[in-house]
Amino acid sequence: MQTLHLTDKEYDLSQAATLLRDGQLVAIPTETVYGLAADARNGAAVASIFTAKGRPMDNPLIVHIADMSELPLLVAEIPPQALALAAAFWPGPLTMIFKKGDSVPNEVSAGLQTVAVRMPSHPVARNLIRLSGCPLAAPSANRSGSPSPTNAYRVAEDMDGRIAAIVDGGECTVGVESTVIDITGETVRLLRPGAVTVEMLQAVVGAVEVDEAVLNPLKDGATAASPGMKYKHYAPSARVILVKGSADAYATYVNAHAAANTVALCFDGEERLLTVPFLTYGPRNDAKAQAHRLFDALRRLDDEGVRVAYTACPSTDGVGLAVYNRLLRAAGFEVIILE
Ligand code: AMP
Ligand code: MG
Repeated sequence: MQTLHLTDKEYDLSQAATLLRDGQLVAIPTETVYGLAADARNGAAVASIFTAKGRPMDNPLIVHIADMSELPLLVAEIPPQALALAAAFWPGPLTMIFKKGDSVPNEVSAGLQTVAVRMPSHPVARNLIRLSGCPLAAPSANRSGSPSPTNAYRVAEDMDGRIAAIVDGGECTVGVESTVIDITGETVRLLRPGAVTVEMLQAVVGAVEVDEAVLNPLKDGATAASPGMKYKHYAPSARVILVKGSADAYATYVNAHAAANTVALCFDGEERLLTVPFLTYGPRNDAKAQAHRLFDALRRLDDEGVRVAYTACPSTDGVGLAVYNRLLRAAGFEVIILE
């Protein structure tokens, strides 16, 4: 299949919208990461997302809408706190899990009785939803397991020849996937951290429970609340090892342990302590900058044929929880704690 490379100009967007209406797959920019979109009402189109990505069939997709009027068509009920959360954070990087409406195909929800919905803020994503007239089911536009793409070049790396088109809308501003919360129970439960932080959610709904899977590997035999959390994820080919400690302790450890084809991922400015090849991924005290740069840094490791990547560990405060959660999975939970 020849993949069309489209711009975000009106003419190209109407072509992308036509492809989506025809049941084709189009990679689209959002403020979080690039998404691989299909008409969420078309089960066959949605099924082809799983084939293009190599995604396990039991991992459900997020449906993207552009207007609140589309929500009742997808969900069985809208709890009052969903309205408060939508008023606070939509359009934006928050995904809410609702009881599923009858019209949502099983391919979207991977057989679950719930459906995940988000209203993106990116103007191109919103335009495409409006122009196509389709709610768009869209997971991240990477081959399953790889770091999510945050620009069109990284999408093409994984998807050229496998999908109908890629719309180039520039760099994603946030850089990590949306915050996912389950709102079907009494208390809001965080399933995946993102740019809408626990503190921001608490300010709207009071208590928020953080699911075990955010910071821990799934125990043998346990069922994942969010199926995506049970897989090794966001991982480059390199072995990633997360190292917790001060800038000095990190540098001392890495300088002593690095072998051939080893790179140290570190915070801006701290490279001066290192005697080994390095990549920076943002200032130590700026989690938003780290989120913005993390996935491209992980993909650069593969560009350079790196075998082992020691990674300086971010703080878990605010957006840092999202950065830490992605790195834990990229590392397959391999963490070294320095005194
Ligand atoms: P991605 O599309 O790559 O951003 O991944 C979507 C994430 O949302 C995955 O971790 C899914 O497991 C999760 N997700 C989507 N729908 C549901 C749902 N109905 N219930 C729980 N988690 C969901
Ligand atoms: Mg993904």
